[in-house]
Amino acid sequence: MPDSEVVALAASLAERFAERATGHDRDGSFPHENFADLREAGFLKLTVPRTHGGDEISLTEFVQVQEALARGDGSTALALNMHLIRFGAERESHSYPPFWFDELCRGAVEDGRLVNTAATEEGLGSPAGGGIPETVATPVEGGWVLGGRKTFVTLAPELWYMPVLARIDPRDGGEAEIGDFMVLRDDSGVSIDETWDALGMRATGSHDLVLEGVRLGNDRFLGYRSRPKPSPRGRASGVWFALGVAATTTGVAQAAFDYAVSFARERAPNGLRTIAEFPGVRRRIARIALLLQRNRALIADAAAAWEGGEESGMLASDRVVVAKIDALNNAIEAVDEAMRVVGGVSLQKHRPIERYYRDVRAGLHNPPLEDRALEQIARTALDFPDAG
Ligand SMILES: Cc1cc2nc3c(=O)[nH]c(=O)nc-3n(C[C@H](O)[C@H](O)[C@H](O)COP(=O)(O)OP(=O)(O)OC[C@H]3O[C@@H](n4cnc5c(N)ncnc54)[C@H](O)[C@@H]3O)c2cc1C
Repeated sequence: MPDSEVVALAASLAERFAERATGHDRDGSFPHENFADLREAGFLKLTVPRTHGGDEISLTEFVQVQEALARGDGSTALALNMHLIRFGAERESHSYPPFWFDELCRGAVEDGRLVNTAATEEGLGSPAGGGIPETVATPVEGGWVLGGRKTFVTLAPELWYMPVLARIDPRDGGEAEIGDFMVLRDDSGVSIDETWDALGMRATGSHDLVLEGVRLGNDRFLGYRSRPKPSPRGRASGVWFALGVAATTTGVAQAAFDYAVSFARERAPNGLRTIAEFPGVRRRIARIALLLQRNRALIADAAAAWEGGEESGMLASDRVVVAKIDALNNAIEAVDEAMRVVGGVSLQKHRPIERYYRDVRAGLHNPPLEDRALEQIARTALDFPDAG
């Protein structure tokens, strides 16, 4: 239960979001009014450092906020996750040029502006696969010209800052490099193609970003991804992201649990006993509670290990991927169990539980994916046995 003011506030916002969720899910529309509420409640600056006017909440507190928000609306929570992780991770990894980090913070604190990275492409898939983007940044006098199309750009209807991953072809041949470029909403040649019509997380506005001859100054170049700077906290972005997604997914499963419990306590076929008295239903409810508790323990353990920076037992970065993949699988199982408790009517479109069933699956396709996560754990165990 809420153990801080910000988590309690998230829970109360979630109640409002839950009332709007069905409509946005049905229409695939973006919940602008939820973001207006989040803005007003100061949630866009929760992870911004205090030196820059934010609240600088910890990773541990951040995951609690994500879970509380997702209990009302998974889409809103997942979309906010994309924005908040940028600041949380950057507090640790310092990967952005200081000018741009200052500007992102200023934009979030003073103007309520949102940021999210546009990395994925139709042909590339996830850049985590090691592919080269088709979006290209061509060097020109005084800067760059960007062209390409990015997919899955969550928050697209409201984004202002869009760091874009692009290929840089060397003038003299040789291997292409990969870099990030800061694209702004009002740059000439930037548009959003409203393509997002998905099974789950339908209200995240994860549309395509289209870049046509976007002319940028040299100041928009954020750095080469193909030349990562060695840093002990260099994985911070992946850590904040993975745990934020795990917590969001747990919040969706918690909503399914809430629904199944209240349904079981009221549903009395033929007006006889409620189904809450049946041993099969009781076992399923207990199983869901167990899975949810396991998720919270895994996520809290990974967050504490990463924050503590101590490497005893399993490596913190491995605990993070364990928490993400296990939390996703547990949450999916939990929602499936909740569907069985509710029975055939769980399929009806007017009941929120069918949305939880769809939303809970989306995180499977957010990094780290299970195969890559397992490979990371195997690498530590088999190739670097003294590391953890
Ligand atoms: C709700 C939602 C929101 C998202 N928001 C954003 C966003 O805001 N910004 C953004 O940039 N992206 C976003 N994404 C995209 C996401 O991060 C992934 O890039 C996308 O889901 C594609 O990943 P993939 O690994 O399935 O695709 P692919 O790379 O096409 O992979 C397909 C399959 O092949 C396997 N595979 C691929 N390469 C390898 C390899 N080298 N070795 C072994 N197996 C491999 C993968 O594991 C997967 O099973 C979002 C996705 C979702 C579902």
